[in-house]
Amino acid sequence: MTKIKKTISDIIGKNNWIDGKDAQKYYRDWLNINGTIPMGVAFPANTNDVSEIVKVCSHENIEIIPQGGNTGLVGASVPSQGKSIIVSFEKMHKIIKLDVDSGLMVVEAGVILADVHAALNETNLEFPMHLGSEGSARIGGLVATNAGGNQAFRFGMMTDLVLGLEVVLPDGQVFEGVREVQKDNSGYQLRSLFCGSEGTLGLITKVVLKLVPKSTNVETGLVGFKDLNTAVKFCRDFSCQFHNFLMAIEFFTDFGVDLILKLSTDNDFPVKDRASIYVLFELGATSSLLDIRKPLIDYLSSNLVSSELVDCIVANSESQRRKIWFFREEQPEGQRLIGEQIKNDISVPIGSIEEFITRAIKICSEVNPNLRINYFGHMGDGNIHFNISPPEGNAAFTEKERGLSQKIAALANEMNGSFAAEHGIGRTKKVIYNELRGEAERDLRLKIKKSIDNQNIFNKGVIN
Ligand SMILES: Cc1cc2nc3c(=O)[nH]c(=O)nc-3n(C[C@H](O)[C@H](O)[C@H](O)COP(=O)(O)OP(=O)(O)OC[C@H]3O[C@@H](n4cnc5c(N)ncnc54)[C@H](O)[C@@H]3O)c2cc1C
Repeated sequence: MTKIKKTISDIIGKNNWIDGKDAQKYYRDWLNINGTIPMGVAFPANTNDVSEIVKVCSHENIEIIPQGGNTGLVGASVPSQGKSIIVSFEKMHKIIKLDVDSGLMVVEAGVILADVHAALNETNLEFPMHLGSEGSARIGGLVATNAGGNQAFRFGMMTDLVLGLEVVLPDGQVFEGVREVQKDNSGYQLRSLFCGSEGTLGLITKVVLKLVPKSTNVETGLVGFKDLNTAVKFCRDFSCQFHNFLMAIEFFTDFGVDLILKLSTDNDFPVKDRASIYVLFELGATSSLLDIRKPLIDYLSSNLVSSELVDCIVANSESQRRKIWFFREEQPEGQRLIGEQIKNDISVPIGSIEEFITRAIKICSEVNPNLRINYFGHMGDGNIHFNISPPEGNAAFTEKERGLSQKIAALANEMNGSFAAEHGIGRTKKVIYNELRGEAERDLRLKIKKSIDNQNIFNKGVIN
């Protein structure tokens, strides 16, 4: 038994430790691209365990990689070198408190997002964070990546949904910031510092989540368009008409539909006439007294008459609603299954979505017109996942094709957007980060990192 395994097992019990070589599920990431074998994986049961593990690793100079659901997409949830351990929050999955009157929930960092939603089933509240990975992603990971998801344009990203945090710092001290109020202006906003910190500043152990009134009256629809221009114009008008009720406005392409149809023969597409671009919308009202269905149907009918839309459907049941969402949320999985891909998680001002996509497609076709491009994302906040797969029949990209990542990122930057809209920098976006972000900005982040984790014990090489 290695010394580190023995010392940590003495703290958390030997059943809460797995040797590195037996832990592939933990040390390889969702894309199965990143990750090397660590010394082991530790499963603490509480904050004290986490603090003690950190003290040991700090003393022995062993890197710690904090891990939630391991669904991160930038190589930050897995080790890049062997003198490391993963601290998995899998066993810290208690919902500590649900305060319906105050509209908040206190949870341990390892609670799965879908379990937060399920715990609110019987209440009139919801936690407005929804993404394709919600069955696996854990609250600590969502905070550490400052996740966005499909309601971010309305309710904000994780940083807007976190009231308080408890965090174990690199020397094992615990920052006790479990506040249950929106307003706490006691100096620098420390809770925000940890949102998007990607495991580099501290290990998040508890989180206070802000809840919102639940929409009981929900209408979900899918609309097909002949081209991007018509889809964007529709979204602009639709968002103004239904602004107060708009919960999600997402888009994907017909190429993306084919990817999902390949996942299984059970997946019949809910819209009869296939189009070029599809917009998924969800409207919600917190009062059942408000009729949103009639004005919605009237609006869509008048657009159908003016032949702006190829076809559309408004869900008539929960199962139909789920089917519509399936075609949007399974886009990452559909593309993963066709092999290697270049993932670009960019955002541009919403008025520039069409221009960005048109220019990005042109950049790609100049390199190789046969590249398979799957773009989809969040129309409400200009977040586009502009993903590229090699031409049919090619298993991998050429060097020149790989360089597209930088070009797409530079285009988003030039258009006053971001090359890292919601997934973070991690290890895989560092080259682009160093290229596109100025020295003063990078220095500032490095100074923050050094002032908190001078020994570089947490997630070495991530962001900085
Ligand atoms: C199918 C699919 C769809 C997705 N859709 C979206 C989307 O719409 N929007 C979006 O924003 N993201 C999306 N993602 C990315 C991913 O799900 C999110 O980044 C999510 O927040 C990661 O949570 P996790 O628990 O899996 O974290 P992990 O992958 O385990 O870790 C992510 C980062 O957080 C750190 N971390 C984890 N737990 C802690 C902790 N307790 N303390 C400190 N640091 C910690 C890790 O070190 C790492 O840097 C998607 C991913 C997949 C696979």
